[in-house]
Amino acid sequence: MRTTVGIVGGGPAGLLLARLLHQAGIDCVLLECRDRAYVEQRQRAGILEQGTIDVLRACGAGDRMDREGLVHDGIELHFDGRRHRIDFPALTGGRSVMVYAQTEVVKDLIALQLADGAPLLFEAQVTAVEGADTDSPVIRFTHEGREQTLRCDYVVGCDGFHGVARHAIPDGARRTFERTYPYSWLGILADVAPSNDELIYAHSERGFALLSMRSPVVSRLYLQVPNDTDPHAWSDERIWDELDARFALRDGGWKLQRGPITSKSVTPMRSFVAEPMRYGRVFLAGDAAHIVPPTGAKGLNLAVADVVVLARAFAHLHTAGSTSLLDAYSDTCLRRVWRAEHFSYFMTTTLHPDPAQSPFDTRLQIAQLDRIATSTAAATELAENYTGLPIG
Ligand SMILES: Cc1cc2nc3c(=O)[nH]c(=O)nc-3n(C[C@H](O)[C@H](O)[C@H](O)COP(=O)(O)OP(=O)(O)OC[C@H]3O[C@@H](n4cnc5c(N)ncnc54)[C@H](O)[C@@H]3O)c2cc1C
Repeated sequence: MRTTVGIVGGGPAGLLLARLLHQAGIDCVLLECRDRAYVEQRQRAGILEQGTIDVLRACGAGDRMDREGLVHDGIELHFDGRRHRIDFPALTGGRSVMVYAQTEVVKDLIALQLADGAPLLFEAQVTAVEGADTDSPVIRFTHEGREQTLRCDYVVGCDGFHGVARHAIPDGARRTFERTYPYSWLGILADVAPSNDELIYAHSERGFALLSMRSPVVSRLYLQVPNDTDPHAWSDERIWDELDARFALRDGGWKLQRGPITSKSVTPMRSFVAEPMRYGRVFLAGDAAHIVPPTGAKGLNLAVADVVVLARAFAHLHTAGSTSLLDAYSDTCLRRVWRAEHFSYFMTTTLHPDPAQSPFDTRLQIAQLDRIATSTAAATELAENYTGLPIG
C-alpha cells in the first residue's frame, strides 16, 4: 500500500486531520488499532473552545454539534464557601465555549469519513514507524491477522500518549518535559439534570471538585482523589456526600441533585511535552506530542489546533509546492502548546490542594482566586485562555 500522508490513530486529531486533508484533495490513509464501537464510546473531554467549534463547522462536522451542544458563556469559581461567575463574552469580545462530548465529535467525524472520506481502517494495530529521515517513511501494522506495510510521503502520529509514532524520533533528537501531580480525578456520569447551568470549579480544603455536564439530562462530576484510588472503593453515597461537602456554600441555599451513577473512573493528572513535534517526514499531533491535566479543558482543543496548522501546511505544499509551513510546524504549535501547558498547570495548582501543602499555601490559592474574582484584568486572562487563543 502507498499513500501521501499515513495517519496513525483515529482519535479526534487523526480523524479531523483526515477530514481536512480529504477536503484539500490530499490523499491519506488512517489506521486505528481499536474497533469503531470502542473509539466512539471512550469517555474523555467535553468542552470545545470557540476555535474548535469554528473548525468543526467549517469542515462539515458541525450540524449535530449545533443542534445538541450547549453553548456556555461562563464558568463559576467556588472558593472560601462562595461563588464568582466569569463572563466569557463580556471579557473576550464575544467568545464562548460549547459543551459537546468528545465521544460525539468522534462519532460525527467517523460518520463523515466513512460516507465520504479517505480509507479508515479499524483494528489496524501499528507496530512501528520507520524511516523518518528518508523520503519514504513506512508504517508497519497488523490488520485482519496479516502484517502489512503502508509506504508514505509523510507520516503523522496522532496515536496518543501511549502510541508508537513518537518513538520514530530517535532518542538523541527528542527532548521530553514532564510533571506529574500527587492527585487524580474520580469522574462520574450520572443520569440527572445538571444542578447548575454552567460548570462550577470548586476549591475546598477537602479537595477540588468540578460540576460539568454532557447533556441537559446527564451530569459529569469530578472529585480530587489520591493517586491509585480504586473508583469502585467509592460507594455512590460516599461520592454524593463528598460532592455536597466540597460544593457547600457558606450561606447554604444551593443543592446538588443526585441521580443514578452510570460510570466511575479515575484519571491521573499529567503535564508532558515532547519536542520537536516533527523529525524528518514524521510529524506528531495531539496527545502523541503533549498532555495537559484536564483542569483547563485544553487536551482535545490542542489536538484540534495542531492538525489545523498541519493540514494548512500540507495544503500549502500541495498547491504552492513549498515546505515552508511544514518546516515551521513544530515551532508554530509548540508556542501555543506551552501557553496551554502553563494555563492548565495554573488552573490545576490553583484549584487543587496538594496533600503536602501548608495552610499558608491554601491562603495563597484563595488570594489568587479572589484576585480573579475582583480584577477585570485577572478575569480576562482566565477567560481568554479558557475560551482559547487563536490557532496558528
Ligand atoms: C481518561 C482521559 C480523560 C480525559 N478527560 C479530558 C477532559 O475532561 N477534558 C479535556 O480537555 N481533555 C481530556 N482528556 C484529554 C483529551 O481527551 C485528549 O487530549 C484527546 O483525546 C487528544 O486526542 P488525540 O486524537 O490526540 O489522542 P487520542 O484521543 O488518545 O487518540 C489516539 C488514538 O490512537 C489510537 N492508537 C494508539 N496507539 C495506536 C497504534 N499503535 N496503532 C493504531 N492506533 C493507535 C488510539 O486507540 C486512539 O484512538 C482526557 C484524556 C484521557 C486519557
